[in-house]
Amino acid sequence: MIGITSYGAYIPRLRLDRMAIFQGMGWFAPAIMMVAQGERSMCNWDEDAITMAVEASRDCLRGRDKSELEAFYLASTTLPFADRQNAGIVSAALNLRDDMITADHTSSQKAATTALITALESIQSGQRHNIMVTASDSRETRTAYFYEMWFGDGAAALSVGDDDVIAEYKGSYSLSMDFVDHYRGADQKYDYVWEERWTRDAGYGEIIPRVVNGLFDKLGISMDDVDRLVYPCFFKRDHRSIAAGLGATPEKLVDNMHEVCGETGAAHSFMMFISALEEAKPGDRILMCGFGQGANALYFEVTDNISKLAGRNGVAGSLANKKSTDNYLKWLKFRDLIKTEMGIRAEAPTQTATSVLWRKNKMIMGLVGGKCRECNTPQFPKADICVNPECGAFHSQEDYEFADVPAKVKTFTGDLLSVSVDPPAIYGMVQFEGGGRTVVDFTDCALDDVRVGLPVKMAFKRKGVDKERGFVNYFWKAVPVPGAAEEKDKIRFDDRVAVITGAGAGLGKAYALELAGRGAKVVVNDLGGARDGSGKGSASPADTVVDEIKALGGEAVANYDNVATPEGGENIVKTALDTFGRLDIVINNAGILRDKSFLKMEPENWKAVMDVHLNGAYHVTRPAMAAMKENGYGRIIMTTSAAGLYGNFGQTNYSAAKMALVGLMNTLKLEGQKYNIKVNTIAPIAASRLTEDVMPPELFEKSRPEFVVPMVTYLCGENCKESGAIFNSGMGYFNRVAVYTGPTVQLGDPDNPPTPEQIHENWNQINSMDGAGEMEDANTAIFALITPPAEASESAESDEQAGGDVQTVFDKMVDGFKAEAASGVDVVFQFNISGPGGGEWYCVIKDSTCTVEKGIHEKPACTIKMADGNFLAMMGGKLPAMQAFTSGKLLIEGDVMKSQLLEKLFVIG
Ligand code: NAD
Repeated sequence: MIGITSYGAYIPRLRLDRMAIFQGMGWFAPAIMMVAQGERSMCNWDEDAITMAVEASRDCLRGRDKSELEAFYLASTTLPFADRQNAGIVSAALNLRDDMITADHTSSQKAATTALITALESIQSGQRHNIMVTASDSRETRTAYFYEMWFGDGAAALSVGDDDVIAEYKGSYSLSMDFVDHYRGADQKYDYVWEERWTRDAGYGEIIPRVVNGLFDKLGISMDDVDRLVYPCFFKRDHRSIAAGLGATPEKLVDNMHEVCGETGAAHSFMMFISALEEAKPGDRILMCGFGQGANALYFEVTDNISKLAGRNGVAGSLANKKSTDNYLKWLKFRDLIKTEMGIRAEAPTQTATSVLWRKNKMIMGLVGGKCRECNTPQFPKADICVNPECGAFHSQEDYEFADVPAKVKTFTGDLLSVSVDPPAIYGMVQFEGGGRTVVDFTDCALDDVRVGLPVKMAFKRKGVDKERGFVNYFWKAVPVPGAAEEKDKIRFDDRVAVITGAGAGLGKAYALELAGRGAKVVVNDLGGARDGSGKGSASPADTVVDEIKALGGEAVANYDNVATPEGGENIVKTALDTFGRLDIVINNAGILRDKSFLKMEPENWKAVMDVHLNGAYHVTRPAMAAMKENGYGRIIMTTSAAGLYGNFGQTNYSAAKMALVGLMNTLKLEGQKYNIKVNTIAPIAASRLTEDVMPPELFEKSRPEFVVPMVTYLCGENCKESGAIFNSGMGYFNRVAVYTGPTVQLGDPDNPPTPEQIHENWNQINSMDGAGEMEDANTAIFALITPPAEASESAESDEQAGGDVQTVFDKMVDGFKAEAASGVDVVFQFNISGPGGGEWYCVIKDSTCTVEKGIHEKPACTIKMADGNFLAMMGGKLPAMQAFTSGKLLIEGDVMKSQLLEKLFVIG
């Protein structure tokens, strides 16, 4: 059997919105409005028929051994060289072997189908077994003409052979005639077009039916034997009517792709044929025609092998990878349709020494570097000495192709000064997987798309054009992998394991689906009891959610334990560890309601609610935290409620339990800190069985749990640096809730406690929340309570430093140490001074001695963070420490109380 063995396609990423053409030139040529639908593909400034052909060919060669190719044909009417074989350039870029035949097929829109028939007949004759035919075109058009609208740029490749055939070749029929609907003189850039109606009627309308019927007669078949019919024709109406005239039902006709990319010249028959192949099933019969000075018709039947083809971009993938633009001026500039001043830098000599090009042909055209035979280190470029310092072998390099090796951005810059058609010029270093790096240009991207660490693919592009001599220089550039930047920003949970309690329904279920969808392995815990926690429980809620996750391709396991018991909590965590081997995330979500006004709140209802909400979180989180501590990573979510945060009639048990969870979080955040365990609390508002009878129906409708899920997902993510915070979330609205502490009022004195009357007198001040703030922990709060803000001293008003520099202060610190005040004191202060004069110093006080060192101490008791100016002001006695603290100029981490020793231990000022 002989036929098609593989296919590939490349459509440039840039798509020009046709309305932009109309908006730019519709005033001059209003008729172009008739074809201004959709978008046309457009080459980037560094792309042409050659570069697109290389990409389509690489796509076609995926999963195939390119060394088996015995011939390569390139079909195009827009080849950059009239006398330098263009197929040879593509072949060099693909690093194909040189003992093969390469040829350009050109001068007609049907060049590709002619080349394909030639290739197939050569296989049929048994002379060759494996040939690739690539068609590519990027036709130039004058502005404000129909061609500008109709045409698109693109390339498509088909390989043919006698093994692994995906579409069997059944035969062909050709017509050759000197029908001139348009032509392009040898020294012309643009097509000259004859009258449109004549082209439609005498051209497409007569020649396509004739070639199709000729094929039918030759093969003894009819339209009943055709499942898909392919022929290019940019006249949409005629495209349809010719098919109808041939007896083809509309579904048989393959779309001419006008809306999505436009007609890609000599490549278009292949392009449409490949889009038919992408949808084809074994047994489908496809008839493809090429049109131009006559026509070719070829007939294929799809085989079972189609399903075995390696993944590729093809037409569908190329169409999906797009960047639409309505910048018509950019199109004009890229196509050299407007002249811009390129500056003096653009006048640098561009002549290419073809002798050098030949000597370095593999390196420049094929991106071939070297790999050391001794130590296997790859390097680019290839050199006489191995780059590996531990090897350093001489003449040990074998050819090593880098073009398909995955690479990442190592460094990059956006340069507005270098000459570029599309500034800024972006270039930098790429690092290849397995070794080797090189400096390259980045293309097909904006500066924002490039980031260190992002994956890139190498692509063969124009490096520059020597207009004086008509020479195009090519080299490889790096293209950021489409979507990689967005993917990097995505919150993912791959390799993370999450326990979600009460995940059989409501919010818990929504969290479970989302986390699993983002890669987490999830333990779906649910007891399956009634809303008030009564009943025997049931496995089905948890099982249903697990089934749902698995059906979506996720990983999950069900657990039916009761969070209200210590054994239940242990078991839930054990399920995670036994099934998935670790635990990273816990969402304490299980909940019940037993609402009664306080006087009717019997102990049993009080206790049941405490057991599920508060004790449940304790039972699960304790063993979970032990596992997280092992990994040095954890994310814990508590679920509180507006009822607890603000109060709600009839929910004393629930309010107390929910607010107790905030207390649990407040301390856990401190205990988890050094293990990178973040603990936060969600106060959700969501439609569920808990709220169905308390929420007004209109609110219930709008409050899908999915609106709370993003916040919880974020808080569970690696990027979340927050710990100890509470967030109200519902219906897409979010805000933070915090415990605030007002300013301190000091009454009485150390010997005389204040009187209640004094409290009364100062009530407004004591009760005031003006200038209130949050406190890190209890110590900070007590410290703030007992250190009321001092009156701001005149000189400390400004942050101006009090003379000297920070280093000098630390140098003098030992002199100012009051040894007599340090008896029994054993403390390490770490100073982190920001600003130009800043740095890290630490001060160790032990056995009544003081040492001061530059750097970071491993275990400071207390870390003092200040700006350099404030620090100098404080140490110069101009800014009281208390005032610095209460005004936020002095931040203290660790044991806040210890910081009070500073003033006691040192003569400051
Ligand atoms: P829900 O009733 O739909 O889901 C709670 C789930 O927890 C149920 O599937 C239930 O079977 C399970 N569960 C109950 N007791 C359990 C136990 N002992 N062990 C294991 N599983 C148990 O309710 P929901 O609205 O999704 O509530 C989820 C959480 O959010 C609860 O903690 C609730 O208090 C809290 N909350 C909800 C809202 C809201 O507007 N829905 C508001 C504030 C707080």
